[in-house]
Amino acid sequence: MGVLPRHLTKKTSQEKETQNVLRSLKKIIKQKLSVEEKINQITKLTAKELKVEACSFYIIRPGDVLELYATCGLDKKAVHETYLRIGEGLNGEVALTRKPLMVSNVWKHSGFVYKPETKELNLNSFAAVPVIHQDVLLGVLSIQKKEIHTFVEKEMDFLGVISMLISDLLLGVLKENTIKVASGRQHKKMDVVTLIQGLAIGKAYVHKRVVFENILSLDRHGEQKKLISAIRSVEEEISQKLLLPDITREQTDIFKTYLMFTRDKGWAKKINNAISSGLTAQASIQKVLNEITERMNMLSDPYIKERIHDFQDLANRIIRHLHGKQVASKKMPRNAILVAKSLGPVELLDYDLSKIKAIVLEEGSQTMHMTIVARSLNIPVVSGIKDISNSILNEDVLAVDATNGFLYINPSDEVLDDFDDRLKTYRRQQAQYLPLKHLPSETKDNVYVSLNINAGLPSDIVNTKSFSYDGIGLYRTELPFMSAQQLPDAKEQTQIYKKVFDEVGKKPVIFRTLDIGSDKILPYFENKKEENPAMGWRSIRITLDRRIILKTQLRAFIRAAAGRELKIMFPMITTIEELREAKKLFYLEIEREKLKSGVIPKVIKIGTMIEVPSLLFQLDELVQEVDFISIGTNDLAQFFYATDRGNPVIWDRYDVLSPVFLKALKKVSDACKKANIPCSICGEMASNTLGAFALIGIGFTNLSMNPAALGPVKGVVRTMEQAKTSLFIDKHLNDSVVSLRDLLKAYATDHGVLI
Ligand code: PEP
Ligand code: MG
Repeated sequence: MGVLPRHLTKKTSQEKETQNVLRSLKKIIKQKLSVEEKINQITKLTAKELKVEACSFYIIRPGDVLELYATCGLDKKAVHETYLRIGEGLNGEVALTRKPLMVSNVWKHSGFVYKPETKELNLNSFAAVPVIHQDVLLGVLSIQKKEIHTFVEKEMDFLGVISMLISDLLLGVLKENTIKVASGRQHKKMDVVTLIQGLAIGKAYVHKRVVFENILSLDRHGEQKKLISAIRSVEEEISQKLLLPDITREQTDIFKTYLMFTRDKGWAKKINNAISSGLTAQASIQKVLNEITERMNMLSDPYIKERIHDFQDLANRIIRHLHGKQVASKKMPRNAILVAKSLGPVELLDYDLSKIKAIVLEEGSQTMHMTIVARSLNIPVVSGIKDISNSILNEDVLAVDATNGFLYINPSDEVLDDFDDRLKTYRRQQAQYLPLKHLPSETKDNVYVSLNINAGLPSDIVNTKSFSYDGIGLYRTELPFMSAQQLPDAKEQTQIYKKVFDEVGKKPVIFRTLDIGSDKILPYFENKKEENPAMGWRSIRITLDRRIILKTQLRAFIRAAAGRELKIMFPMITTIEELREAKKLFYLEIEREKLKSGVIPKVIKIGTMIEVPSLLFQLDELVQEVDFISIGTNDLAQFFYATDRGNPVIWDRYDVLSPVFLKALKKVSDACKKANIPCSICGEMASNTLGAFALIGIGFTNLSMNPAALGPVKGVVRTMEQAKTSLFIDKHLNDSVVSLRDLLKAYATDHGVLI
């Protein structure tokens, strides 16, 4: 059955009617006309076929506004003159929600905005669909009718087909524009989000998903046959991958999920329906993919959102097979920086991985499957750059600094030289660090510096097996909470923490209680809208208010540690009272466990993080309350300087290497020494060679860092003299300067320290 509304066709001639409309549409597309004129003609044909008085297309323009671009039925003078903001009026609502909308009487709808210049006064009913290409909104296609009318599914399906046609026509225009921008080959430096640390330089290789040539087809059976054969080929391809000898457990799970999708009857039915409506198999898959993506995007669960990439990957593989294109390109240069809007894990594995030096994504996160795979391959990954896959060309040179969070596009010779030097140093140092691996982490004057790692997933520990380190100085427990659909219960958490203990063996591990809020949002948890979330209801403030969360987690720690040493610490403590309260809850759980199972940890150590400056002024009392202290310099610096740590405009305005900040840290270290309790640093400052040098210089002998920093920091430790550095820094702690960075750098270089 065709997509055309029932009233357009006599039952006996339905097929014929569909074919006629498709032929007319094809004729319009083939004409030598501008895209705008073609879309005008399409609106005319749509209005005629759907028996409506108006059909209009609004295009999205920079600044997120919709502009009336083509119409049949509204006043032509309004074209390029009528604008709607996203969310304004009914068309704006469709753009905002990205969902079809049907309204039988617009005058009764609170969202309707009357635009007098369009002369739409006598039009009463309305329907519209978004025009989307690969997750990017291009505009809105709407129809209006005089009669008060409820639009039916068949009419909406027809609009859906037309919206795909328009999306395809517009793509040509968009491509021309982006090429113009990119061929300017400007130097550009952009802030990026680091997903996997590292440094790389190379030629861009843009991962393009296939753009199909034909949208419409008159041969329904032929398209169905092609679809079945493409799905079979993809299944075969994935099954082959499952047989690879070095396949990991994560990869096996991912591939199996793909096979489940390809065999899903509901999905196949939807695609077949789209083929029956006159679309090619390729366009049908894209249409269904768009619908599913939109639906998944509406959900707040980050886990489901991340699965969209897997789904897009699978759909694109089938489209490639239909297109007869090779899945992975052989043309990829040797030093490639793979650029993609998003990337599925299987798509990544299609490439020759030895050629990929880094990955640059528009969308990505720590927990998406692709990142998990890239981490196991040690490929640096950055994300969060809007529209990058459209604005970069294959010949562009990219320098990825996934350590400091920058991407350089076509860098100037100066940047390139500097980067080259850093890369050489980085490689040299990496090579230099290898022999250090089994040497003690001791300064030249025999001060032992304990090197620990920060981790957040059991797999982080597995991936760090080849390094030598003393323990886990910070185990962030948020990730499993962020990727779940509800708060994990005590049993689930116990399993996770047990796994951490198992992976880490005899090494000590410090678990931090849940540090949610601020930028770590749990979609299923009550999220309050706050002016300053970093200073708002977050971390220990939440878990002390919602005690069941803290109690459950403490119970899970206790059970997981049964018979072993348990070290826990509380984040964002602001007053001693909060700490006492949290400790009280912990010991209640211990009592409970004693009664219940009789098994409690062999040794218990309770610590606090120092992240809020108020604690700097209560150190004497604080040290009496805890077994250890760990300083979170990321948050401490943000509150110390009143500088949002996530705001690139100001994040390098103040320096953690200022005399005043170093003095504050030293004060903590001195107080801990006096009280004879360990004190460590677990903020990013300890992962940076110069930062670590300064910290050891002011007396810290316990650092917890990003695993990648273990080698470089050990290089610093083994080439510095603690006592001399300490004397030097002490002399400058009262300098009235913004930063001691240059001074420290010069001193370290002069004294042969490997920074
Ligand atoms: C810190 O604030 O320094 C810290 C280690 O905690 P997080 O980065 O998880 O906020
Ligand atoms: Mg913090």
